[in-house]
Amino acid sequence: MAFLSLEKGSIVSADRSKLELKRSSIVIFTAVTLVLCGLYLHLSWNRYEDIVSSEAVMLAESLESLLHPEHIVELSGTDQDLDKPEYITIKHTLMRLLENENPVRFAYLMAERDGKIIFLLDSEPPDSPDYSPPGQIYEEADDLSWEPFKSGKTVLTAASTDRWGTWISVLVPVKDQASENVIAVFGIDYSAQDWNLRLWRRMVPDFIIVLFFLLIVFALLRVLNQRSFLKKLSEKLALEEALYHSIFDQAPIGIAVLRDKSFVFHPELENMNINPKFEQILARKSSDFENIKWTDITYPDDLQADLDQFVKFQRGEIKGYSIEKRFLKPDGSSVWTNMRISPLSGIPHMNDMHLCLIEDISAHKQVELTLKESERSKSVLLSHLPGMAYRCKNDREWTMQYVSDGCLNLTGYQAKSLLSNKDISYNEIITPKYREPLRKEWEVVLAQKRLFRYEYEIETADGNHKWVLEMGQGIFNEHGEVDALEGIVLDISDKKKVEDQLKYFSEHDVWTGLYNRRRLYDVFRADQESGNARNAALVGVSLSSIHLLSLRYGFQYTQELIKSAAAALHQQCSDNYQLFYTYENRFTFYVRSYNDKKELLTFCETIATSLEFILSAERIGASISVMEIGVSKNLDIEQLLKNILVASDKGLDTTGSDIGISFFNDEIHKQILREEKISRELIQIAAGNNVERLFMQYQPILDLKSKRIAGFEALVRLNSKTMGLIAPAEFITIAEKTKLIIPLGNLIILQVLNFLNRLKEEGYNSTSIAINISVIQLLRDDFIKNLLQMTNEKHINTNSVILEITESVFASSFIEVNKILAKLKELGFLIAIDDFGTEYSSLSRERELNINCIKIDKYFVDKLLEVDPERSITSDIISMGHKLGHFVIAEGVETEMQLQYLKDHGCDKVQGYLIGKPLDEDAALALIRQIAYTNTDGLR
Ligand code: C2E
Ligand code: MG
Ligand code: MG
Repeated sequence: MAFLSLEKGSIVSADRSKLELKRSSIVIFTAVTLVLCGLYLHLSWNRYEDIVSSEAVMLAESLESLLHPEHIVELSGTDQDLDKPEYITIKHTLMRLLENENPVRFAYLMAERDGKIIFLLDSEPPDSPDYSPPGQIYEEADDLSWEPFKSGKTVLTAASTDRWGTWISVLVPVKDQASENVIAVFGIDYSAQDWNLRLWRRMVPDFIIVLFFLLIVFALLRVLNQRSFLKKLSEKLALEEALYHSIFDQAPIGIAVLRDKSFVFHPELENMNINPKFEQILARKSSDFENIKWTDITYPDDLQADLDQFVKFQRGEIKGYSIEKRFLKPDGSSVWTNMRISPLSGIPHMNDMHLCLIEDISAHKQVELTLKESERSKSVLLSHLPGMAYRCKNDREWTMQYVSDGCLNLTGYQAKSLLSNKDISYNEIITPKYREPLRKEWEVVLAQKRLFRYEYEIETADGNHKWVLEMGQGIFNEHGEVDALEGIVLDISDKKKVEDQLKYFSEHDVWTGLYNRRRLYDVFRADQESGNARNAALVGVSLSSIHLLSLRYGFQYTQELIKSAAAALHQQCSDNYQLFYTYENRFTFYVRSYNDKKELLTFCETIATSLEFILSAERIGASISVMEIGVSKNLDIEQLLKNILVASDKGLDTTGSDIGISFFNDEIHKQILREEKISRELIQIAAGNNVERLFMQYQPILDLKSKRIAGFEALVRLNSKTMGLIAPAEFITIAEKTKLIIPLGNLIILQVLNFLNRLKEEGYNSTSIAINISVIQLLRDDFIKNLLQMTNEKHINTNSVILEITESVFASSFIEVNKILAKLKELGFLIAIDDFGTEYSSLSRERELNINCIKIDKYFVDKLLEVDPERSITSDIISMGHKLGHFVIAEGVETEMQLQYLKDHGCDKVQGYLIGKPLDEDAALALIRQIAYTNTDGLR
């Protein structure tokens, strides 16, 4: 590239030096010509001057010869000469001499007298102002004037000026013929002007020759110049043509020559009618245009506008026009172009043609369309925006530069009122307390170049308050300075209302209207973080025994009671005693800054009194448990609440109507810790780890009629790693609370089914096993399905499975439980009510129960030992069970006396240590074998 430009540069400079050389040679040639001409003229001048001079000398000498020296000798050079005939004769001769048209102006005779040259006479008449009287001294005489006197030779003077003018004189010495002495000098004067005029006249032909010569020379030069100019012009034309060709072919715009509505194919245009770009834009070959008119390939929608302009153009009303129009491509698609129509003038006989220039603007149009679309959707968006969009300065007033129409709806002010703070600034609309925080938030956001998001209140034109959400961002210039802020302000009053409601629901118990457990967490955590929780305590109030009333009076009744209790407890609230409804039927007071234990006790007594008023009539009790937290930080509120819940439940006496008050102590704490340990182990087992720690024992059930082992009750055992054997009464409760009873229950059922199969293998096909089922298991939707699936998989006859349900199960939901039992019964399972008689008696509804068996609780069997058996109700239970078609099993039979009584009163089966303790599988099998083998009478 550098090389090219260097070469180009050297070509240009060579051209320039060539031009300069040519110019200087022309100048030199002209100068030489002019010098030659000048020289020629100069020589001619000199020649003519010589001729004229010699003519003048010849004239003067011939005139002098006319004079007679003897006359001249007579002249004295005084006034006396005037009358002398010689004077008169000579005077007349001279005067006559000058009368003719003579270039000689003066003729005179001079002589030397006393060292001065004087005039003897002249050719002037005496009345002429130029007349010189005889004897007049020639004052202006110079050396040249003296020359003829001295040398005796004729002298031609140069032009000299005297009092009569400027002259060229010829001075001829007049000699005495005898002595050859100069006696006088005859002079004739030519006017220098006439002299020169005569010379110039002679020069005229020479001037003409020179002029012609010069004319020829210049004509020649001009011809030469013209030739080189023409040469240059043709070179330039060739270059221009090449340039035009390449521009035409490579131009990024389409060019076509048209006549009227047709494309021109004139041979004179030499394929310069349509350029490749034109073909490319319209996706047609040059030859395609021969048979079509531009109106044929104009997109119909754009044709009329084009034709309107074209008609004006043809009429000469406009010189040309530009239009954005679409052309149709051969495939039916269209291309957007920017078309310029202009006249193609300057070509003779082709003035009716015009030029059509097109530029493909499809991409640009697409962008325009997209932009339009985005503008349209922006305006749709803005008009439907539940608020307003803005652009404002980052100043104290948030001076608005743009505000969308939504402003009126949002603020009650017209958009224009806010523009440039015309009527009000946006800052004034913001509720004062939010102005500074909002500004600070913007400062932070702009510093970090983050998106802005802030909720605050504004005051509308009619004085109302609205919650708004502002989302925006800073617009930065290239120096990173904030130019403006842009964003939207949305009306979120409705959302705020819902949010407030949600907040209310999330923090309150809807029924009692009290704060809930979540709120207690928040308050507690906030206090912990701020260190406000000085001397804090939790006071748990458990009314969980209230559920017993549900059975009797229905759910609504107890709920109303809870509401009353809540109201009563709420009365005791103060700044430092806040009340929360933390669990079902349980309340918690969060106490702050109390003085001492005594204060807490007094408080507990007060709430006990207020509760007593409500609960005593219902004959149910409550339990109040106090836990002092102190000031220690980082306490687990969830754990604390659980502890207080457990503690208050533990102190609950479900049978009496007392309201116990207890302080959380180490014992309770230990129990809670033990429960946690057990539940952790159960979790492990449920997850399939250490499953062997949960194992089954089987307590035999004796059929009193056949005196054989009718079956067993499966009783689960937990062998804890750290705590040893744990009674089911303890860990089943925990499993129920934690819902772990569901996976564990399945493990139990599977173990029992396996044992049943083992019995079957041993030939004890009719032996049944009772499985204890928790209410939580029973109420699961998939309980029946799962159970059936397991029995099917293990090929167990459902008749050999007795499901034991404790009587208390019915307390929660009688109808639902009964429905489930009906289905189970239908499937062949046997249903037994366990611990019959201990829970709230459902004897009245016994008839409706879908069961097969009643298991009389050990309590009634034990009673047989205390009271007169005849007065015992145990026999009543047996006969009632029989009446209802159920068989009856007595539990906890330990003595012969009890067995005898049961036998006497027709009890069907018995279970108890007297018959056998719970045994592992092998021992149970051994027992059944032994009893089958032994004479039954021998057994008892
Ligand atoms: P339950 O179903 O009423 O079981 C009878 C309980 O009385 C068993 O206690 C048994 O060992 C005990 N027992 C039987 N005969 C006598 C006797 O003559 N004298 C005395 N003093 N006690 C006797 P265990 O095994 O401690 O079970 C306690 C309770 O745990 C069971 O009461 C049952 O409600 C529950 N339970 C046991 N195993 C399971 C189980 O697999 N699933 C469920 N959900 N509960 C179970
Ligand atoms: Mg049982
Ligand atoms: Mg029982």
